[in-house]
Amino acid sequence: MTRNIPKKVRDTLRKEVNFGCPVDACGSPYLSYHHFDPPWHEKEHHEPKGMIALCLEHHKQADYNVFTNEQLHSFKTTPFISIEDKVDGKFNWKRGNLVCLIGGNIFIGSQNIYLNKSEKLLWLTLDEKSNTLLNFDIKSKDDELIFSMRENDWLIFSSFDNIESIPSGKRLSFEDKVKDLKIDITFNTFSKADFINKYKDNYPDDWMNIIVSKISGDVITTCVINGHLTFPFEITMDDTGTSINGEGSEITVMGSLTLKNVKHYRMERGLCVGDGVLIK
Ligand SMILES: [Zn+2]
Repeated sequence: MTRNIPKKVRDTLRKEVNFGCPVDACGSPYLSYHHFDPPWHEKEHHEPKGMIALCLEHHKQADYNVFTNEQLHSFKTTPFISIEDKVDGKFNWKRGNLVCLIGGNIFIGSQNIYLNKSEKLLWLTLDEKSNTLLNFDIKSKDDELIFSMRENDWLIFSSFDNIESIPSGKRLSFEDKVKDLKIDITFNTFSKADFINKYKDNYPDDWMNIIVSKISGDVITTCVINGHLTFPFEITMDDTGTSINGEGSEITVMGSLTLKNVKHYRMERGLCVGDGVLIK
């Protein structure tokens, strides 16, 4: 038995508490997993009924027996967050010249990534210290707002099939089969040499030079966004590119390219520096 908790068990424990720490007045989405009935030192197990998802602060308190087993079991059945509530969190990543890799396309210094006519869906803003911050609205097929992020602060319905926001604050992912949605947002840092090594097979050398020259210092911070959206039509984003399927609407991609009445469009590995500068 290893301490690594199987994914299925982690998913079950997060969903059980509606994706927020179940302790009264907490609700933090940055969850870890606590073995309590019996505790790990008495018996090595990954039985969901004897485990609970808690934020790091309350996990530490649980390790020191702040909560009785009876209280922990009651947190599992009546968690602080209900299925009608929203879960909120934030990315504390604040960097100038953030390199965004969104559906295989790279953006530096861009503001508008996706627009539905004039409605912003995915865009970047700068704070007073010129740090790049993320803004993202995700709607269902019926135009209902189901995920919202403003300047790195995010909000999501706890009724999703799965939400994972790891305590390191590097990653947020969520998915829902009925809503046909899936999103993964991951921040990372690289030295310039490691960045080039990681991406040199995907993008031309001269792009690597452009990217590296835009970043002062030796550290490159990346924000990778991939997933599947259904509003205003089907958008599939992965490391190799972005596919758009749908018709009858209009979307502006990469800040500058406006598509009208397009049934299928695939954007592969573009580089966008600022708004409206698209290198293919
Ligand atoms: Zn907590």
